[in-house]
Amino acid sequence: GIILGIETSCDDTGCGIVDTEGKILGEALHSQHLTHLRNGGIIPPLAESLHRHTIEKVVQDALDAANLSINQIDAIAATVRPGLPLSLLIGTKYGKYLCKKYSKPFIPIHHMEAHALTARMFDRSIEFPFLVLLISGGHCLLSVVENVDSFLLLGESIDDAPGEAFDKISRRLKLTNLPEYSTLSGGQAIELAASQATNPLQFRFNIPMIKYKDCNFSFSGVKNVCLHHLFREERKYDLPPDAVLPDYKNLCASFLLVTTRHLCHRVQRGIEYVAKKNLIPPDKQTLVVSGGVACNNFIAEALKIVCDNLNYKLVRPPPKLCTDNGIMIAWNGVERWKAGIGIYTEFDNIEIEKSSPLGKRLIEDVV
Ligand code: ATP
Ligand code: FE
Repeated sequence: GIILGIETSCDDTGCGIVDTEGKILGEALHSQHLTHLRNGGIIPPLAESLHRHTIEKVVQDALDAANLSINQIDAIAATVRPGLPLSLLIGTKYGKYLCKKYSKPFIPIHHMEAHALTARMFDRSIEFPFLVLLISGGHCLLSVVENVDSFLLLGESIDDAPGEAFDKISRRLKLTNLPEYSTLSGGQAIELAASQATNPLQFRFNIPMIKYKDCNFSFSGVKNVCLHHLFREERKYDLPPDAVLPDYKNLCASFLLVTTRHLCHRVQRGIEYVAKKNLIPPDKQTLVVSGGVACNNFIAEALKIVCDNLNYKLVRPPPKLCTDNGIMIAWNGVERWKAGIGIYTEFDNIEIEKSSPLGKRLIEDVV
């Protein structure tokens, strides 16, 4: 079977074509990042119009790259939840339109499920159940993936997502005013700056939620402390409006360090809880980390140490599959196609959803 996947949940218009063996046959991606950077954030109607403008070409480019015609595709998968409604609608409508026109089944996709399952495409040894940490621009969640469509949620962010915090701080630091940073995402900019720091301990931060025994996350507290350090430093130096703080590298490093320690701390709790409840058999102990923030090498290396110590295998998809793309949607379509679940020949009633929980939540605290 061959599945075509469409992604438009946020600011990337993506299309991927993947076969049931997990082979990538074709792909195309159009990023709106630079446009939104100029506006200081995503303006939904603008994102919508950019998706509308590029969707047809992106799908055609993926088909051309695969050297396939749409008739050779077995089903079309598209992200229908969660995401920006105006953005989601473009990919969903276009996917349904193609399905109608060419009589193909439609596979609606949950964007976070797709982030979680991508790892199985290039590492075929990952079997259910496995543990997943999804860290991205809109989410932070730790979950046991029991099956393609069955997630046990151990914890999630009670406020901001880590990517959102990186983006906000990078913007407030005006990092993109510096040429080396001008095209980077907030997370990439902070990672680069942090890697050049001379003293990552210059700024003080406390690890969030250290006293709580659950697996939830919080990033808004450390984000605010970071902004507070920033204000104080700015006053100290009396800088012109467009200037970047002299100590920005150390501030980025201090912030990256505290978020990394928080993530590691929560993952360790999650692994302990999984062990106590026997949720994952010893021979399958795997942690998948995905979502855009998983591109961060500092975070990945720290998670690797936690995993090594606890006898878990850490798997991280290649960076271009961690951020939003059409391939992960196509692969999620393949997973559903093979399992025979969530494939629709009647799809008029399938609607987009702005927010949508992933799986059932475990209410017991981790002790
Ligand atoms: P969601 O998947 O929750 O809907 P999204 O799709 O907008 O959110 P992704 O495309 O998965 O998010 O990830 C984008 C986020 O990843 C941005 O916030 C960006 O700053 C962050 N990011 C990208 N590269 C890095 C990096 N090297 N380090 C940290 N964060 C990064
Ligand atoms: Fe995403």
